[in-house]
Amino acid sequence: MYNVKSHIAEEFIDDAEIVETLEYARKNKDNRPLIERILEKAALCRGLDHREAAVLLECGIPDLVEKTFALAEDIKKRIYGNRIVMFAPLYLSNYCVNGCIYCPYHAKNKRIPRKKLTQEEIRREVIALQDMGHKRLALELGEHPVENPIEYVLESIRTIYGIHHRNGDIRRVNVNIAATTVENYRKLRDAGIGTYILFQETYDKRKYQILHPSGPKSDYAWHTEAMDRAREGGIDDMGIGVLFGLSGYRYDFVGLMMHAEHMEAALGVGPHTISVPRIRPADDVNPEDFSDAVPDDKFLHIVAVIRCAVPYTGMIISTRESRDVRERVLDLGISQISGASRTSVGGYASEERDEDTAQFDLADRRSLDEVVKWLMELGYIPSFCTACYRAGRTGERFMKICKGGKIQDCCTPNAVLTLKEYLLDYASPETRKAGEALIAGELGKIESEALRSSLCKDLERLEKGERDLRY
Ligand code: SF4
Ligand code: SF4
Repeated sequence: MYNVKSHIAEEFIDDAEIVETLEYARKNKDNRPLIERILEKAALCRGLDHREAAVLLECGIPDLVEKTFALAEDIKKRIYGNRIVMFAPLYLSNYCVNGCIYCPYHAKNKRIPRKKLTQEEIRREVIALQDMGHKRLALELGEHPVENPIEYVLESIRTIYGIHHRNGDIRRVNVNIAATTVENYRKLRDAGIGTYILFQETYDKRKYQILHPSGPKSDYAWHTEAMDRAREGGIDDMGIGVLFGLSGYRYDFVGLMMHAEHMEAALGVGPHTISVPRIRPADDVNPEDFSDAVPDDKFLHIVAVIRCAVPYTGMIISTRESRDVRERVLDLGISQISGASRTSVGGYASEERDEDTAQFDLADRRSLDEVVKWLMELGYIPSFCTACYRAGRTGERFMKICKGGKIQDCCTPNAVLTLKEYLLDYASPETRKAGEALIAGELGKIESEALRSSLCKDLERLEKGERDLRY
């Protein structure tokens, strides 16, 4: 029985409710008056429920699909302005006891070399990332009670926060580790993590069980209820996502929307981020083995509808996607992207690209400087901001500011300041020139005289050598 407030996986992700929702969406996919009403509601930036979102995704009426795309673009600009937050994944270990058949780290893959970074190796990776200009990391590691216990994760977080190379520092460490206990989530919170990220992979329990034949992750309920435990452990910034292509996208899309509604209703805070990865080739993984691949046009539609349905949630895309797809989804709602990523363990500091330990192949291999310049050419402000978490703007407090339409007042000045730091410390001469012009243009757009003058003063302070100024 569907119960959005229940803490039991099969009640807040109720199969019958998803099946009925899909049927409702099919029946109403040509219902113009209903779809127009849903779009009008979405335009108020108050979000949509999973049934409304499903209808919007099923709709194939060309002008209404176009309207959905335009609305997603408009909502994104209204809430976040034109900043795009940059981050990099950091793979600590590919030891894993799970059997996920779509991931080369699965326990039975004997071909892949196993590697776990020592604290000294983490130091080298972090220095390489700082020297590129990164300030925000997402830690990635497999589940292995012996090789990757929580103590290893906590020690690694301490190491990372403790490294300050030249003007560099990592100011926010987001963590993507397997579903764990309330006690371990509490330890992660105490270690000062940013967002706790865990992808559901698929919400379809039958498919989930086939895709996860062994290991702790094979327990659907344990995995699906992870955010409830994380919240109990005191974490209030949580990121969810599915791996599109593993299972039918319609089912997973509705499951994702229901999970977001559950978090808001039962945990008091909706997802801080939603990620939209699609399955990619890797050692031992051929996407053609998965018959549910999502074509580009549908993928764009999914991104646009998520933006309309959960307007206050950050949306993340990785370098799994090509430059072209990334370019298009930036307009439709993506607010964070990774840049210059390595998806292998130790991939940043090693001279040669260590691809034999990679989790998936990259479709976008540009350097951070190239990505920054590209974003600016598209009219975005690449942002290395980490201010909210450090100013205590997390969880409910963050959502309140977002819902009041005020987050842009922080995002834009912080984007300008962190971009300026990047230009001073890491950019190529060409990128610096383009960046200075962009900053001048952004200053000109600020209506408040007081804010513009304070930002100009802060930019001067950065030029004189100060760092880490924030709003
Ligand atoms: S997806 Fe995660 S849990 Fe599954 S095999 Fe890969 S690293 Fe392990
Ligand atoms: S001000 Fe907050 S929401 Fe905006 S980019 Fe910085 S951390 Fe993110």
